[in-house]
Amino acid sequence: MKYPKTMNTYCPTCKKHTEHTASLSSRKGRGKAHPMSEAQRRFKAKLKGYGSFPRPNPKGDGKPTKKVDLRFKCKECKKSHTKSSGGFRSKKFEFKNK
Ligand SMILES: [Zn+2]
Repeated sequence: MKYPKTMNTYCPTCKKHTEHTASLSSRKGRGKAHPMSEAQRRFKAKLKGYGSFPRPNPKGDGKPTKKVDLRFKCKECKKSHTKSSGGFRSKKFEFKNK
């Protein structure tokens, strides 16, 4: 889909509608579990034999679409924020040139 590069939307810092520039954020560095997080400790306990053994990762190509991670940067306070919807899925994503 095509998305406008600039748009008027609510800025939580300025507490009013200002002009924002939309950008895609890279998901690099995300998704790595903390070595001693709650979930990791639970997972390690499972590997040691407590509870049921963890299931292997599901095989397959996964989903045909990727979730678009949009960030909006306010032109007034220069702060960026995300939308509450948490993004949407799209096969092909590009910015519309006005
Ligand atoms: Zn702002």
